[in-house]
Amino acid sequence: MKRLGFLLTLLVGTYCFAAEDAKMDKFISSLMQKMTLREKIGQLNLQPAGDVTTGGAMDTEVGGLVMNGDLGAILNLTGKDKVKAIQEVAVKKSRLGIPLLMGLDVIHGYRTIFPVPLAQACSWDIPGIEACARIAAEECSSDGISWTYSPMVDIALDARWGRIMEGNGEDPYLGSLVAAALVRGYQGDFKGRHNILACLKHYALYGAAEAGRDYNTVDMSHLRMFNQYFPPYEAAVKAGVGSVMTSFNIVDGQHATANPWLIDEVLRKKWGFKGFVVTDYASINEMTPHGFGSQKENGVRALKAGTDMDMCAQAFLKNCEAAVKEGLITEQDIDQACRRILEAKYKLGLFANPYKHCNMGDQEQTKHIFTPAHRQKVRDFAAETFVLLKNEGNILPLKKQGKIALIGPNADTTDGLLGSWCVVRPARDAYPSLLQAMRECLQGKAEVLYAQGCNLSDNERQDNAGMSNAPYRTAPKVEPKQALAEAMKVASEADVVVYAGGEGAEWSGESHSRADLDLPDCQRELLSALMTLGKPLVFLNFSGRPTAMGWEKDKVPAIMNVWFGGTEMGAAICDVLFGDKIPSGHLTVSIPQVTGQEPLYYNHLNTGRPVGDYEEGFRQYQSNYFEVSNGPAFPFGFGLSYTTFKYGEMTVSQDGRSVTATVSVTNTGDYDAAEVVQCYIHDIACRYSRPVKELKGFERIMLRKGETKSVSIHLTEQELSYYDMEGNLFFEPGEFDIMLGSNSRDVQTKRVNIE
Ligand code: BGC
Repeated sequence: MKRLGFLLTLLVGTYCFAAEDAKMDKFISSLMQKMTLREKIGQLNLQPAGDVTTGGAMDTEVGGLVMNGDLGAILNLTGKDKVKAIQEVAVKKSRLGIPLLMGLDVIHGYRTIFPVPLAQACSWDIPGIEACARIAAEECSSDGISWTYSPMVDIALDARWGRIMEGNGEDPYLGSLVAAALVRGYQGDFKGRHNILACLKHYALYGAAEAGRDYNTVDMSHLRMFNQYFPPYEAAVKAGVGSVMTSFNIVDGQHATANPWLIDEVLRKKWGFKGFVVTDYASINEMTPHGFGSQKENGVRALKAGTDMDMCAQAFLKNCEAAVKEGLITEQDIDQACRRILEAKYKLGLFANPYKHCNMGDQEQTKHIFTPAHRQKVRDFAAETFVLLKNEGNILPLKKQGKIALIGPNADTTDGLLGSWCVVRPARDAYPSLLQAMRECLQGKAEVLYAQGCNLSDNERQDNAGMSNAPYRTAPKVEPKQALAEAMKVASEADVVVYAGGEGAEWSGESHSRADLDLPDCQRELLSALMTLGKPLVFLNFSGRPTAMGWEKDKVPAIMNVWFGGTEMGAAICDVLFGDKIPSGHLTVSIPQVTGQEPLYYNHLNTGRPVGDYEEGFRQYQSNYFEVSNGPAFPFGFGLSYTTFKYGEMTVSQDGRSVTATVSVTNTGDYDAAEVVQCYIHDIACRYSRPVKELKGFERIMLRKGETKSVSIHLTEQELSYYDMEGNLFFEPGEFDIMLGSNSRDVQTKRVNIE
């Protein structure tokens, strides 16, 4: 009976979808019948409105373009009133009144800013991440935005690449879960007032830029693409993402923006993507320096490959009419692209109500943007993203008593908490710096002494580059000797020292590659000097990437990676520092000992001359370095707590080609806390070489002190399979190592044979 009910629901659901699709098709077909070729091409054109831009965009008379039907979408126009004004031009002044899509990079929050995406992933809290996307959608859709250029799901293995901060780290399995969660969070069912269109980016392989230098060459085998880089893109597609952005790089020698294999074969045919594809910022123009000829040739190539919308190059607008006349493309090519874009507008409900995202009253808007509830959520969530890396002698949590010296260039900045890609941000004084938050937290209980101590960097070039994108300085310039003396004085009067340093908020993100991932010399000198005082010292490492930590791991007694945590970061740090919340973040990237180890990632293939990650000493004619061991300073999956967890002995049961790994975990320490139980596999002998470890499951559990829980992670044939060169998933019978543990290094292993 139950089964019948289910089937009936399925049938009715399918029928409704089909009926809705048919209605949409009819509407769009009838609209397109009225459209001239030029108007159809206009829909494929996306231009910035001039508010904020990321590249060298030509200035456009946006209003004129809209009126003429030469524009389908706008990016970077912020503020509901401005959006409404331009939408009115589209609806009332253009011949057919087709509404515009309003795009913006809402990457980690709109006005309430969340931790940067890399930090979010370190929470391993998938529902929490989805909730963040919902809040971002609610805020931006209350202020005119209908389309975000997120999720960015590029796998990045090289920490020199500044955009590693925008993704989820080095793991395709975790990255896939996050990708799908973000799509769900932004889009919902498309219909609601606060649902917006998501844009999966950057398709594809942008994160594999050679040497971590942004926009650089990419070249890799299809095997690696399908197994290591593609899964998060595929997961977002399967979650129903409505648009996809191409990347700036080449793939198989062809530009990603004009690559038929990538767009047509894989994205649309293999994965079933139904939405529209947009280029990245003026990518069609960038094809010329890549060596692909003229704008016209490249516009034609992009359209032919299946790219539908042109961001900022105007290559379609300028060349497509002529290209149709010359027979280089057909009107059907244009129709197909135009239809996909109109479908997105239809699904979002923009034809029914073009002002759906920009007609909220000022009063009502305050109930949706930067609200106390959103800020509280961000504060709670930010605390989950911090990763405790070292806590010698249980320095942490600190007591709310005595004198605390807060020192460092990131201690009293608000801009410096947000990280890159906060296009719309609250006023600087609308949220507290760490210093302000700490004073508030400790009011009447402990005294906070403060000194900046040093500049973020003493390297002029690094310092200036870090600021190139930002109209704000994150920490004021100080005179080094005097600042050091002040810091030493303040620290010597205190009971404990908290050092807030690391990277500047703008040292990661687009166009912010670093060749040296060490803590800048001036900061290391200050830290060394502070440590000579022999007081308990905690290093809060602010970073938008894994920074090199060999030295810090050896020398500094307590380290917590706090990334860039957004508007509520100051308060969230205090929650964790003083034990009101217990750290539970686990790394989703490997933290190197030294920069030269990059690209560094846990799920690498083996060599024929393997050396264990933590083996001491150099071994001649084996795969290793003179100076350091192969392993990271802190491995993928790693993260300490204030409590301790004891793992029982793991068991594995088999049912055909499914495996269940079970372990009991006991909270043996003094605090209720969350733990992330991780399951890895290694496929022992295969046709193609397989990684030494691959994450295939995890569970984030809450354990009260003294409590024991049994955790079972179930792996199906799908998780035990991998992709061949053509992207077909296949299972190879044989031996597998199944591993369970609290990070990728410290695991228990059981070998199973699966036929
Ligand atoms: C970036 C994209 C971004 C776009 C629009 C480009 O420079 O690569 O990630 O979405 O600009 O701002």
